[in-house]
Formats: sequence, C-alpha cells, structure tokens
Amino acid sequence: MSTQRRDSKQGNCEQGNCEPSCGHESLWDGIVDSQPLTASRQTRLAKVMARMAEHPAASCILAVHGRKVVGIATRQDLMAVMVRSPDKWPQMTLADAMTSPVITLAKPAITALALLLKQFAHHHISHLPVVDTQDRLLGLIDQTRLLQATQMSSRQENPPLQRAQLFSEITLKIRQSLQLKDILQTTVNEIQRLLAADRVLIYQVLPDGTGQTISEAVVPPYPSIIGMPFPEEVFPEEYQGLYAQGRVRAIADVHDPASGISACLIEFIEQWDIRAKMIVPIVHPLKPSLGSDPGKHLWGLLIVHQCRSPRQWSDFELDLMQQLAGQISLALSQGQLLEYLEDRVKLRTSELTQANLALKQEIRERQQVELALRQSEAQLRLITNNLPVLIAYVDCAGRYRFNNEVYQHWLGKPPAQINGKSIKSVMGKAYYEKIRPYVETALAGEQVTYESELAFKGEQVRSVSVTYIPHLNIPHLKGDDDGTGLPLIKGFFALTTDISDRKAIERMKDEFIAVVSHELRTPLTSIHTSLKLMATGRLGQLSEDGQQMLEVADENTDRLVRLVNNVLDLQRIESGEVTIDAHECDVGSLIAEAAEAMQSTAQQHDIEIQTQSVSLVIWADPDYIVQTLTNLLGNAIKFSSPGSTIHLSVRPHIDLAMALFSVQDYGQGIPTNKLNSIFERFQQVDSSDSRKKGGTGLGLTICHKIVEQHSGKIWAESQLGVGSCFYFTIPLSPN
Ligand code: ADP
Repeated sequence: MSTQRRDSKQGNCEQGNCEPSCGHESLWDGIVDSQPLTASRQTRLAKVMARMAEHPAASCILAVHGRKVVGIATRQDLMAVMVRSPDKWPQMTLADAMTSPVITLAKPAITALALLLKQFAHHHISHLPVVDTQDRLLGLIDQTRLLQATQMSSRQENPPLQRAQLFSEITLKIRQSLQLKDILQTTVNEIQRLLAADRVLIYQVLPDGTGQTISEAVVPPYPSIIGMPFPEEVFPEEYQGLYAQGRVRAIADVHDPASGISACLIEFIEQWDIRAKMIVPIVHPLKPSLGSDPGKHLWGLLIVHQCRSPRQWSDFELDLMQQLAGQISLALSQGQLLEYLEDRVKLRTSELTQANLALKQEIRERQQVELALRQSEAQLRLITNNLPVLIAYVDCAGRYRFNNEVYQHWLGKPPAQINGKSIKSVMGKAYYEKIRPYVETALAGEQVTYESELAFKGEQVRSVSVTYIPHLNIPHLKGDDDGTGLPLIKGFFALTTDISDRKAIERMKDEFIAVVSHELRTPLTSIHTSLKLMATGRLGQLSEDGQQMLEVADENTDRLVRLVNNVLDLQRIESGEVTIDAHECDVGSLIAEAAEAMQSTAQQHDIEIQTQSVSLVIWADPDYIVQTLTNLLGNAIKFSSPGSTIHLSVRPHIDLAMALFSVQDYGQGIPTNKLNSIFERFQQVDSSDSRKKGGTGLGLTICHKIVEQHSGKIWAESQLGVGSCFYFTIPLSPN
C-alpha cells in the first residue's frame, strides 16, 4: 500500500503516445496535472486525509493498482464518508470512499478543449484521469482547471472556442456560490442573457408528480410563473420517464403539429404566450456515480421559452443547455452534501451545547462541593488550631499527613518540614527511638498513651502526655480490605498534651510529702521507742485500760513509721536519689532470704510459705529484689486466711532473657478493674484496708518502681475469693 505522486510529463511522452512535436502538447499543457495524488485502494482514510491536508490544492485522490486507475475519491466523497461514519472513518480505506469504475481518457483521443468539456458534462464528472493506450495513468484533468484554461485560451485565440468560452464563463459564475438557490438563479440569468430568451426557468419535479418553477429569469412584459404549481397533467409520468432517460426537446413552434404537443398542454402554455421552447432534463444522481444510470433520477427541467414568435433553436444552444444542466446536476450533489454537512453541524452543535450545559452544571456542582469542603476544612482548621493540644495524623508509612498550627509552633518548624515527612525526620532519630515502641503499637491497631519529655521549639524541655489512636478501616465495602476480613490500619491520630504544669504540681506535692515525712521520722521514732519502753512496764505498771490504750498507740505509731518510711523510700527512688547497684546474683538465695524475713509474720498469721526455685542468675540489686519479694509476701499474708499457703517461686521467663518471680496466695483476691490501679500510690481495693490491715497503699508502687528500674515488668492476676498471684520479671544479664 502506498501513496505517491506520479512522475512528471516527461514520463507521458516516454509512453510514446504523444510526440513532443505533435502539436497536442499545447492543449494538454496547463490542464493536465501530471502528478495527481494517488494511493492504493487499501490505504486507510486517516492516511489519505493526511495526504490531502498536505496538498490543499488537490481536489481528489486516485486509487491506483499497477499504475491503472481503479477508483477516484473527491474531497466531497471523503467528507461524506467522514460525516457518515465520524468514529470509524480513520480505520476505513480509500475503497470505501471512492467511485469506480472511473471514466478515463486516452491521451491522444481528444484534441480540443470544447470536446473535453463535453466529456465532463456528458458523464457528469468533475475529474478525468488521462491514461495511455495500456490504461496506465498519465495525469488528471480537473474540471475547474479546464474551465479556467478554456477562458484563457479563448481570450488569446479570439474568436475561436467561443462556445467553450461561453460555457466556461457561465460555469465559473455558477460555481462562485455554494448556495443552490444562487446557483440556479445565476444559471437562468446567464442563459436568458446569452440566448436573449424571453423566459428561462428551472422547474423542479416534486415526488407526487407535480412540480413548480423554483428559479426564473423573465423579461417584461411577460409574466413571471415562479412558485406556480404545475398540475400533473401538464407533465405526465410518461414524459417524466422520457426525460429521465435523457430526452431533450427543442420546439421551434408549439403550434406546429409536428411538434407533437398535446392539445391540453398547448392550452396551458398559451396562457403564458409561449411559442417556442427548449427543454433539457436535470438529472440528479444521489452520488455522482458513473456506474449507475444518472438519467434515472429526474430532478427537474431547464426550460427556455420564446414568447409570441416561433424560434429556431441551434445545436449550439441545445448543447450549451445540456452542459449547463449537467453543471446544475453537479451543484445539486454538492448542495445535497453541503446541506447534509450543515445538518450534521447543527446536530453536533446542539449536542455540544447540551454537553456544554451539562458540563457547566457539573462544574457548578463541583464548585459548590469544593466550597463546602473548603468551608468545612477551614472550620476544622479553626477548631484544631485553637485547641491547646498538638494534633497530628500519621499514615501507615509513618509519615505526617496532617498537623495543626500548635504542632508547628511547638516544634518550631514550617508545614513544609512536617507534612509528608517521617516521624523520624521531624522528631530526630534519638527521640524517635524512644517513642518507636508506641508508634509500632499504634500501627498494630492498639491505642496507646505514654508520657514523655519534648523540647518546645527545640529548647525548653516540657512534659507531655501522648495518645495514639489507630485509624482503622473497618472492611464493610467491597474492595475496602485486604481480603483477610481484618480491619486495615490506615494510620493513627496523635494527641499530645502539655502536662508540664501538672507535673510541676506533682513534684511540689511529692517534695512537700517528703519534707513532712522526713521531719516526722525523728520524733516518730522517739515516740515509738518510748511507747515500746512503756509497754515493757519498766517505767511502771499501767492500769488495764492504760495498757490497752498504750497498745493502740503503739500499733498506730508503728503504722505511721511504716508510712513515713514508705513515702521516703518512694521519694528517694523516684527522684533518682538511690541508684540500683545491679550485679549477678543467685535467685535461690534471694528467695530464701525473703521467705526467712517474712517467716515470723507468716507464723503469726498461721500461714505457710513454700518456695520453689531453679538455679538461675539474675542481673539485679539483691536488696531491692528482697524488698520487693517481702512486700509481696507481706501483702499475701495480709490478705490470706489463717491456715493457707503462699507459694514463692522463680523460673526463666518465656523470652528466656528474664527471670519470672511469682507470689501466689489463696486469699480474698482482687477485682479485675483494680488489677492495674493497685500499683498507683495510695490505691487500695478497700480504703478500710489501711486501718484493718495496717497498709499504706504505697507498697506496690515501690515494687513497681524497683522492677521498672531493673527494666522489668510487674503485674497481678487474680480471682475474687480464690486468690491472687503477683508476677515480676528481672533480666538475666545487663543486656
Ligand atoms: P498496702 O500497704 O495497702 O498493702 P499495697 O500498695 O501493698 O499497699 O497494696 C495496695 C492494695 O492492693 C492493698 O491495699 C490491697 O487492697 C491490694 N492487695 C495487694 N496485695 C494483695 C493480695 N495479695 N491480695 C489481695 N489484695 C491485695
């Protein structure tokens, strides 16, 4: 498949059909395009159109096969296909748009322009390929070019070629307009002028067999018959058939019996003083296809009237009329296409207008939605920016996707340095390492709260409480999950509150308690010692009532001493005053030591302590571990019934890097909702415990602090009425 320009006219002469000296060259020069556009039948229309666009002067493209012309497609043909198949045409081929077979002309066959023009009119064609004797393409004659050449040649060679000149002049005038109405009017005006006829008209045959004059050029005093309907009898069907076959009539005198005009028609035409007339059919093939018989579609008649006197019509006049009727036929095809195109344009315009309206509506709706979104976002920003907390949203990749102004203000960073950045890059590596476990917990779908120290604007360190709330995508919509049915974690919301003031108050409170406790300890010890001395009776015997009061005073002082000691212990641990002196120690001896320390108390309560230990070495400060164990044992004894047993044991923890201590009792148990709070200060399951059991509510807090200092964990499991078990872990080695 190829499209190519043929070789120049030098090639034509090489065909041997026309010698340079033969004298025909002058005829062919200027009217034959020796390089017409050609392509194979299979060339896609997209490519054909591209070629046409490259050669705007080309009004058609020839389909060739082995240098023989097999079809022709004019610009109009191509446009018609595009209009008919607006979506499919680029894939279609030249064969879908072309006319075949093609009328061609053997080069030496015609030697006069007038004859050439006649060929065009006769075949109702606008392009005539010129071929050699073997039917090989030599060039192309375009009717418009031919007409122009005819005019020029007639000007040069005055007076010959007069007919051709007249014809070409009229035809060019006709072609100046695209409007059918103008074309028809110009035609009748020109014929009237040329033939000096009294009336020239174009009569259109209507589908019902009647017809009417649609264009007319008439000279006074003869009346106009424009728009006047002609009854069917005036132009019966059999006449129409004859004209459709190409019949022409030139009647010199309607009254002459030889003219063959029926009596009724004579009556009709006499009304208009018509004496002589010439009638030429205008055939209108729907597509100017030469394959079909164009005469079969009679569109109308081109009629010339001579009024009052007879007129002998010359061959020239008849010939001219026929040629011009052919031109009208061509104009009709063009007009039809134009009309069709205009209709399509109107349709497309209205479709586009509709689409445009819909689009405008959509844009309006979108703008409204956008406005609403902007307003709601502004509202959200207003709220989040005015809350005295740091708010952020972190996606599942650990990158900030939202933060309020307080966040920026606090970190002293512009939005560009936060949004889209990772926590690590925003907070710094060291800080990130500290909070990493919490980030991982949140990204695992669990809410987490922790306290931390955060530098305000990178300088002043402040205490903060941070809560991470996971953002879960609950799978309920199709395609919303990963197929596991489990919620997807999209990220987490981070709320950071400045608790520096609260912490300062807490510190002040602790310090106050510590100072008070410290100040109380010395006098208390002295009171305690005095009371003990009095109880021995060495300072004199008391009455029975006095003895009882002394015992109560001793008991309460004892409790007060313990409380003061506990408060001071806790304060020392929390303030970091005491350091854990960790080293390798054998758990067996620690257990034994603690059990022994509590033995007498246990006996007093008729309780047995059973120990169980494996050979294990831990990395700890033994004094503090024994303190923790005795504390737990003390509680176990306090909350167990007489006659029961307490199990104190140690074994390697599940992760093997820890030792797991446990103190199991079979006492009253702890309600589940208190299992965590009992490790906080002064928290007791029953507030009367402090009185009844002599507790302070600080023992477990101290245990918790000690274990924490050892990087271990402490927790309790319990069942009400069954018993409790306290666990804590201590590392086996410094790592
Ligand atoms: P206390 O000096 O009051 O015992 P702790 O901090 O040691 O203070 O204990 C806090 C509270 O925890 C106790 O008052 C008690 O209510 C509860 N508790 C601790 N150990 C046990 C246990 N083994 N059995 C039942 N309750 C316990």
